[in-house]
Amino acid sequence: MPLTLLHNATTLVTMDAQRREIADGALTFDGQEILWVGRSEDLPLHLAAEVTQRIDARGKLVLPGFVNTHHHFYQTLTRVIPAAQDAVLFDWLKILYPIWAELTPGDVQISTQLALTELLLSGCTTSSDHHYLWPNGSRLDDQFEAAERVGVRFHGARGSMSLGESAGGLPPDRVTEPEAAILQDCRRVVESFHNPRRFAMRRVVIAPCSPFSVTPELMRESAALARSFGPGMNVHLHTHLAETADEEAFCLEKFGYRPGDYAQELGWTGDDVWHAHCVHLNQPEIENFAATRTGVAHCPTSNMRLASGIAPVRAMRDAGVAVGLGVDGSASNDGSHLLAEVRQCLLLQRLGLSLSKPLGNPKAMTAREALEIATLGGAAILGRDDIGSLAPGMAADIIAFDLNALTYAGGAVHDPVAALVFCQPQPVDLAIINGRLLVKEGVPLNIDLPTLTDNHNRAARALLVRAGRI
Ligand SMILES: [Zn+2]
Repeated sequence: MPLTLLHNATTLVTMDAQRREIADGALTFDGQEILWVGRSEDLPLHLAAEVTQRIDARGKLVLPGFVNTHHHFYQTLTRVIPAAQDAVLFDWLKILYPIWAELTPGDVQISTQLALTELLLSGCTTSSDHHYLWPNGSRLDDQFEAAERVGVRFHGARGSMSLGESAGGLPPDRVTEPEAAILQDCRRVVESFHNPRRFAMRRVVIAPCSPFSVTPELMRESAALARSFGPGMNVHLHTHLAETADEEAFCLEKFGYRPGDYAQELGWTGDDVWHAHCVHLNQPEIENFAATRTGVAHCPTSNMRLASGIAPVRAMRDAGVAVGLGVDGSASNDGSHLLAEVRQCLLLQRLGLSLSKPLGNPKAMTAREALEIATLGGAAILGRDDIGSLAPGMAADIIAFDLNALTYAGGAVHDPVAALVFCQPQPVDLAIINGRLLVKEGVPLNIDLPTLTDNHNRAARALLVRAGRI
């Protein structure tokens, strides 16, 4: 394997145990694994002798790649649909379900490629995607194929919906699946794609959609299936939880529990589970999540876009809950810019701890804590010990931003790390995933952006034609 040296970084943010930020930083990696991290001038002689490739990071801020823990890639095809622009979650879903019912395998592939490319250019090197409706023969296989083309580390969450309108659920019956078929396909995709080893590029997550679109039986059986593979297989569980006040009312009325208590009752707590949103957890539910090491994917832009509320991330972190960051589905963001999401995370926590206490607190979230949530936080809730920091033995998932960008002027002089979060988010300058250089000087090396965008937009128009919307 060729030994690569990345050196001369203005600052290298390690996110290691000491949270070192190294001025004039450097690192070496051999294939997929980081061997050494330190100051450029301290490169050991035996490594210097073996270097075959050099990357000059002068003027750059270097960090571990960001981890996206919640998304619905297919929704890039239905961004900004006029009827859904100003709706709350349940109305928004009812407008969009009939369009999503027309998705094809080709739509799943092109939207996966587009969303992952967008994420990559925003500094994301690992992403999960929660895909929960599979019409017209589409399969998780389509996503793994597309993800491999982009080169981002991918945790495909095999989602599902089984509780249709006729049974008291929210989605139309035709986008739901029989529960036996769901469980059978979950087993198939784990056996076909899941790699539990360190540096894995593919993992499978079992992920029924939400309390209002699946039965309690499917939740229980999904958990049993994931755990039946054994702890060494590291098959995780994911769903939406406590996203809106409507959902809280639904859970109380239909199941007799608040959402966090419902999750506990179903066996959906533990270090192999992470829930998206958790806007409406109360203090006892937060403490239970901390005690059971249950993870949370915080999606600030989506929570603002759908007027869902402010997730109590400060209270969660103070209680010891593992929190990662997610951009959420493209039709409720309507973007996949993970660095922008880091900024939203900082700003939203400062705005207020809850709607009943509207006065903000500028100390509620620092730039460095927001970056930690986007790196180490995401790695922890996905169950990975090989990503999220730059240290020997970790994966070579490395990003860099150009501090000479107009928007960082001034800020980069005073505090380059904080400038990345406080100033207007920029596209990534350099991205390396699993030791492969994928973005250089802001340009993706393996993707033709105009062709990708054009193909995607053609698919988006065709989808609306099939749904009878245009
Ligand atoms: Zn979501």
